[in-house]
Amino acid sequence: MPDTPCPRCGGPLGEHPARTRLTLDRDVRICTPCGTDEATRIARGEPPIPFGDWPIRAS
Ligand SMILES: [Zn+2]
Repeated sequence: MPDTPCPRCGGPLGEHPARTRLTLDRDVRICTPCGTDEATRIARGEPPIPFGDWPIRAS
């Protein structure tokens, strides 16, 4: 699956995808910027973006 997009933002997954923190088993791969965004939200005490809102759209 060389061109699988990031399910969170629809962008390229990249060579070193992160794993979402939304699932306990963390089996969903997301791109590095999305992984960083999730980590930032958690650090700020903000709720994660739920699967239902994926893919998020950059406005
Ligand atoms: Zn992404």
